[in-house]
Amino acid sequence: MTTAARMSHCRFCNGALSIPFCDLGEMPLANAFVPLERGDAADPMFPLNAVVCERCYLVQLDHVVDATAIFSDYAYFSSFSSTWLAHAAAFTRDATARYGLGADSFVVEVASNDGYLLRNFVAAGVPCLGIEPAANVAAVAVASGVPTEVAFFGVDCARRIVAERGPAGLIVANNVLAHVPDVNDFVAGLAILAGSAGTVSIEAPHLLALMEQTQFDTIYHEHYAYWSLHAMRQVLAAHGLLVYGVEVLPTHGTSLRVLASADTSAGARYGRFALAAVEAAETAAGLGTPAPYRDFEPKVRAIVSAFRAWLDAERAAGRRVAAYGAAAKGNTFLNAARVTRDEIVCVADRNPVKQNTLLPGSHIPVVSPEALLAARPDDVLILPWNIASEIAGELRPVREWGGHLLVAVPDMRAV
Ligand SMILES: [Zn+2]
Repeated sequence: MTTAARMSHCRFCNGALSIPFCDLGEMPLANAFVPLERGDAADPMFPLNAVVCERCYLVQLDHVVDATAIFSDYAYFSSFSSTWLAHAAAFTRDATARYGLGADSFVVEVASNDGYLLRNFVAAGVPCLGIEPAANVAAVAVASGVPTEVAFFGVDCARRIVAERGPAGLIVANNVLAHVPDVNDFVAGLAILAGSAGTVSIEAPHLLALMEQTQFDTIYHEHYAYWSLHAMRQVLAAHGLLVYGVEVLPTHGTSLRVLASADTSAGARYGRFALAAVEAAETAAGLGTPAPYRDFEPKVRAIVSAFRAWLDAERAAGRRVAAYGAAAKGNTFLNAARVTRDEIVCVADRNPVKQNTLLPGSHIPVVSPEALLAARPDDVLILPWNIASEIAGELRPVREWGGHLLVAVPDMRAV
């Protein structure tokens, strides 16, 4: 039984969560795809309300849905994405050169998934260890030769690793910080594992991009927190880790790679990259003040209203609308707009695990891209706006029969 617990105070600093950001109301879990035979039952719904701490300005959800229910059998395999594999290989090459990693080093990746990144270190002869909470995903990593422990990372796990192997020279935590319910236990664990000289390398979608491009559909129950450099450096500093460098990455609609260490000379040795530029951009956007956070939800409401008006006009004109991309992001969008299966005929996705299921909430059937084309919709809404042009290439036949390809975020527009 999945439960949701209300948080009244900041998960990091215990400040009041008094600044509103984006309240999407009661929503189903964005990755809880529904088997066809359960199509007539209502999905469990939980509050999805992002708020801001008035002290540290960490954007976070004010309800926590039980993490074990979400992650223990997580079905996302990183190796399904070729872009992501190339990103991981490039990271390994750069990090090996920058930190001089070799046979005497020790690299740990937290939330190591199916070993998509660490396999590069294994191939380079750098000793490494993955920590992954989803047993089925960790088993894939072990089978491919990547040493992996099944565990939720935190202080206890870090102490155990240090006792057995000593501190790590590099700790990688990519796209995991948003998923961590107890951020202090997690970051304290990173600090213990890094010791006095190791680097912690954290990648997270950048809150500033989310705000500037109104990427509200990246808000869902599995993302407990949304990170600015402003908030992240406070959390790291509280556990003795100083941010010495920042890189800006194009992944997930702009992410930050934040480099931190207890060693105060690390910035001089390894480089500061875009640290000053990101700081300046966040200050210019007012991320250390309440105003830009309060201004966000009205922009979300405008996007949802514009989309509803378009969809209603399509139906009134007798046009059949389909969608592409059965991912969490699309589900947040469709459910925020309260779209039903009567309004969108189907959603296509290339992942066979998702085909022949129903989207959570809207219960729109998930089909193959070929089945979408066979249904000959008049117009297709592309839900993953970050890869819209790539998908538009796949949907070229829709244009040939006079249909339109559109995205709805950050506003309704043709692709
Ligand atoms: Zn706080």
